Amino acid sequence: MNNHVYIITGVSGSGKTTIGQLLAAHLAYPFADADAFHPPENISKMSAGIPLTDADRAGWLLALNQYIRQQKNGLVLACSALKQSYRNQLAQGVAEDSLHWIHLYGEMDLVRRRMAERKGHFMPESLLVSQFDTWEKPDAGLLIPILQTPEEILRQIISTMALPTQWGLAGLGVMGLNLARNFARRGFALSLYNRHVSGTEEKVAEKAVNQYPELKEAQAFESLPDFVQSLARPRKILLMVNAGAAVDQVFEALIPLLEPGDVIMDGGNSHYEDTQRRQAEAAKHDLFFLGVGVSGGESGALNGPAIMCGGDAQAYAQVAAGLESIAAKDAGGQACAALIGPGGAGHFVKMAHNGIEYAEMQLLAEVYGVLRWDLGYTPDEVAEILTQWAENGLQSYLLEITIAILQRREGSDWLLDKISDKAAHKGTGSWASIAASELGAPLTMMTEALFARFVAALRDHRQVMAAAYTAPQHKVTLDKDDLKQAYQLARWVNHQQGFQFIQMAAKQYQWQVNLSELARIWTNGCIIRSELMQLAQEYLSDSPDLLLHPDLKNTVTALWPSLQRTVSALSFSSRAYPCLMSALAALNGSVTAHSAAHLIQAQRDYFGAHLYERVDDPSGKKYHTHWE
Ligand code: NDP
Repeated sequence: MNNHVYIITGVSGSGKTTIGQLLAAHLAYPFADADAFHPPENISKMSAGIPLTDADRAGWLLALNQYIRQQKNGLVLACSALKQSYRNQLAQGVAEDSLHWIHLYGEMDLVRRRMAERKGHFMPESLLVSQFDTWEKPDAGLLIPILQTPEEILRQIISTMALPTQWGLAGLGVMGLNLARNFARRGFALSLYNRHVSGTEEKVAEKAVNQYPELKEAQAFESLPDFVQSLARPRKILLMVNAGAAVDQVFEALIPLLEPGDVIMDGGNSHYEDTQRRQAEAAKHDLFFLGVGVSGGESGALNGPAIMCGGDAQAYAQVAAGLESIAAKDAGGQACAALIGPGGAGHFVKMAHNGIEYAEMQLLAEVYGVLRWDLGYTPDEVAEILTQWAENGLQSYLLEITIAILQRREGSDWLLDKISDKAAHKGTGSWASIAASELGAPLTMMTEALFARFVAALRDHRQVMAAAYTAPQHKVTLDKDDLKQAYQLARWVNHQQGFQFIQMAAKQYQWQVNLSELARIWTNGCIIRSELMQLAQEYLSDSPDLLLHPDLKNTVTALWPSLQRTVSALSFSSRAYPCLMSALAALNGSVTAHSAAHLIQAQRDYFGAHLYERVDDPSGKKYHTHWE
């Protein structure tokens, strides 16, 4: 594959330079534009709108042919080569099996429009007619209509000429398959791999290629070595397998098949410490390993997820165009994808994202619980109330889906009432709480949300307890506007805790995470996208401490009494509202300049001689008292 010559032909304005450059970049070949080989007299003639004669072109074709024959590391050449005789001259002395023709063609109107948009080219539009007159339909090579995007044309070239593909996806489950379709729709040439498990997982990649029209040009594999061989170097391989042992298995199987500079990306929800371990292992083999947090679920994967990458900047530069192309776009049209930092930063912030998501979901469940059971609204009425909230500053993806869930019927019943309250989880919330404990980050709301799921999961025990006890019964009196404002403030506290958690990790691991940029990535594509996140992006650009931003300070001050009234009212409910209550506790705790924790320090010193600092000695000296 190393000394092949690809000549992209077509009239001026057909896009041969763009396609040639894309193909050259894909093959890592040098690129040349035949226009640069014209002698000055030809350029003057063309600039004056005078068509070139065959005699004018003779020297130019000779120079090009010599240039082609001198190349030792392959070449992609963009050249009009309008007549067969010109093409024959270019091909003279070049081995037939190493010369490949790609001819771009399109209607004159389309080309004329493209020419009109082009600046700084010496070819006036008037020459176009003469070019179309001169053009002879080629008898060999690949003929490609130009009424497609450059990426689609490149993909067609790669697939028809069986060139190495651009991206490899390994693991075609829910996320992998949808990401593959997303890549293909954006014009990338793909290799798809899924393992073979006799009787259960057979020809998974091939079936995907046959089932989805956008994947029809993708290459399907069940053999990992063949999959690796099909990829252009440096290889870009996105793993979408289950976090844990499966990632290690595929990673270890890939290592001996890869070459220095190849990039493996783990797009699953891996633990950031596992990612760092794999990065160290990859580095021993001169490979790159990026931890790629992907959020947005199945539909995000297909239509544009938020992507949080962690690892080496040089490796990210190799894959940025692909990841940014498939990512969601923010309100300004910028991709919701970025390198968050080195090491495990990408997977860490994905874990934090999921933690924020846990508390956001729990808050919505609590709001629904209050409205339905303490205030007596039906699910339809709750949906109506929440719709008004969404229309008045509280819009978010999770609120949107909650409304849709509340409205969903099965026959005349609400589907929701048929769904068991035995809540499940897949681990990222626990990881976030453990990491927060290790860092000393007060992640109370996320952790309450996690523990609420544990309580929910103990359904059988709850049934027994419910039969054994009747909680004291009181009527809850609460204004629903207070509940709205309490919810609004609790969300801010949740986000404050999440960003603070990330900031503390970034400090610990020296990651230099830009919190505002991270919030920007989370404004679209991901599960926690919301109007609040857009404000957070703005606030965090001024103040890394969210609640200290002057605008937010005003908001918090205005909402605080509602949170107090809500928590106070809910203390008379027989139901649990841990996240709303935790939000108030967290807020009160964070603004208490002199807390009761001096008693904790005294107790620790009393029974364990753990020492304490004194407020009247700012030196930080440790003291001990003989308490007994
Ligand atoms: P699925 O279970 O749908 O797919 C898992 C894929 O991994 C399948 O292709 C499976 O192959 C493959 N696999 C499992 N074990 C092995 C192994 N030992 N060797 C090779 N391949 C293996 O999972 P998802 O697509 O939902 O999730 C993939 C990752 O993305 C997970 O880490 C998940 O946490 C994360 N994620 C998921 C989201 C979601 O909404 N679903 C959102 C964001 C991230 P086979 O078909 O042969 O079993």
